[in-house]
Amino acid sequence: MSRIARHFNPAFVVAAAILILALPHIAANEYELRLITLLLIYAIIALGLNVLVGLTGLVSLGQAGLYAIGAYTAAILATRLGVGLVPGLILGMAFAGAFGVLLAYPTVRVRGVYLAVVTIAFGIIVENVAIEWDSLTGSWVGISNVPAPTLLGLPLDTNAYFIVVGASALIAFLVNLNLMNSRFGRAMRATAQSEIAARSLGINVVAIRTLAFVVSAMAAGAAGVFYVYLNKYISPDIFSFTDSIRFLLMVILGGSGTALGPVVGASIMTYLPEYLQAFGPWQAFAYGLLLAAVMFFLPRGIVGSVEHFLSGRMAEARPDTVREERPRLADIVAVDPADGSACLDARGVSVAFGGLVAVDKVDETVDSGKIHALIGPNGAGKSTFLNAISGVYRADSGSITFLGRDTTRLNSHQLARLGLARTFQNTELFSNMTVLENVLVAFHKEYRSNIFSTICRLPSFRRDERHFREAAIALLGFVGLSAYAHEKAENLAFGHQRQLEIARALALSPKLLLLDEPAAGLTHAEIEQLIALVRELAASGITILIVEHHVELIMEISDHVTVLDYGELIASGSAEEVQTDPKVIEAYFGSQSFGDGPEPAAGPGAGSAGGEA
Ligand code: ADP
Ligand code: MG
Repeated sequence: MSRIARHFNPAFVVAAAILILALPHIAANEYELRLITLLLIYAIIALGLNVLVGLTGLVSLGQAGLYAIGAYTAAILATRLGVGLVPGLILGMAFAGAFGVLLAYPTVRVRGVYLAVVTIAFGIIVENVAIEWDSLTGSWVGISNVPAPTLLGLPLDTNAYFIVVGASALIAFLVNLNLMNSRFGRAMRATAQSEIAARSLGINVVAIRTLAFVVSAMAAGAAGVFYVYLNKYISPDIFSFTDSIRFLLMVILGGSGTALGPVVGASIMTYLPEYLQAFGPWQAFAYGLLLAAVMFFLPRGIVGSVEHFLSGRMAEARPDTVREERPRLADIVAVDPADGSACLDARGVSVAFGGLVAVDKVDETVDSGKIHALIGPNGAGKSTFLNAISGVYRADSGSITFLGRDTTRLNSHQLARLGLARTFQNTELFSNMTVLENVLVAFHKEYRSNIFSTICRLPSFRRDERHFREAAIALLGFVGLSAYAHEKAENLAFGHQRQLEIARALALSPKLLLLDEPAAGLTHAEIEQLIALVRELAASGITILIVEHHVELIMEISDHVTVLDYGELIASGSAEEVQTDPKVIEAYFGSQSFGDGPEPAAGPGAGSAGGEA
């Protein structure tokens, strides 16, 4: 993405402010100024919706309902209580924000098309309440005679009101921009791309989705308040389902997930119908055709496509990531020397999928600072066991103790915050984000600066951001990925993706690191590197539980080996003990003895049958 669009630029803000101040004088007439005011109101909605759709990957088709809540709040307050613009704005945004929390709740269970249906239902409910609650909303007649807006007791004329709306749109733009380029924006994008990975990094996905809903709802509420004072009259038909679609189209057409896209989209969707009036009866047809054409040729939206085109040409050398010597892990994240106590203790853990018992009453104790291996044929339940102890699945029975705490009922983001980090059998990177951003996501919970200081770019935010950026760069240096820091994660070679997943996990300052088949698909040289890395991690005090098919690797590095077969623990002991155990030889290699049989599914595609959650 181009730097211009992604970073706060004071010159841009000054230029935008001058433009807003000048527009009332440039505009040809009252009608044109009104149209531009409307455009800015739509831009506010679209910018808020961008946080939901573009960053968090959730679709709302109920924004018109939130827009209506803001509008009715302000209209009722103004006509009945003579309340001015600012209190109306605060209450309108607060009400809409509260409904945003309500709308976020279903995301605990539903997503995608189902969530879209929930938001459509919400929009319909609001519209119907506006129709039915006659005494409050005036039903179809609506609310008219809205007084002129007052700011701090002073009435605002058309020009002054335009400037207030313009300033608010500029603020909305900056909020969107600053949110995008912050830990919150990264957490939102991470959640959208891989929920399971985001959770494994300590991100409370429900909280992040709620935040996105609230931000988008407050923006829609504010837009509704501004609309009331522009139009002086509201009625239910202004807030229909069609309007919700239009708001969503603005974001998608302009380029969802970009800073300028929502503004461009709002401009097009405001002006296009005006220009198309020349087509007379063909107006609606031309409108539809144009939208379809843009989406067909520019699927990333207008701004998204331009940024994509530019980013290809503007690949810059960024010296900040080139480091001379390999940093020490202890200088980057907190690592405590191992004390030999039990790090993880699982007792009688069982997980069943319907009738299939994937993990059957498994006991496993992992001592701190040690390298434990979990082996077994494909489908033995190894990944399921890792998922159970890392909170991805809840064990059907049994108990799990991590660092002396009963963690049986904790979910994965809580476990991550306690110091349990993991990688995935099928790598779960945030593929659209850069390598550096992937690691930065994992520092989310370490930031001390709150959302307010983030949006306002206060010194506490800047300090945090600088600090963790340096730490993330150092971690990349530690695993040998410095050169790729600004590359998209999806462009990395497979071995590098695995390394990145480990770097990301290390950012949690883990006490226990779960590695699910980290050598699968690696070259011999990469496996050698991996062995050295795992040893180094263990030596620095991080306990390792590794699932692997690669026998030599396991025998070389493990202090202890546990063998699963059909979900049951069939052997447990040192590498030597396990190698000679007849039950293991039988289960794992048929009748062949350990080592000289055909090597079980190592290399690319190993264990692809074991599904991840
Ligand atoms: P491993 O990692 O040892 O290869 P897994 O733990 O992935 O094995 O799988 C153990 C068994 O559980 C397999 O039979 C697999 O098909 C089944 N299984 C794994 N995950 C699921 C799931 N989400 N739903 C249903 N069955 C599953
Ligand atoms: Mg597996």
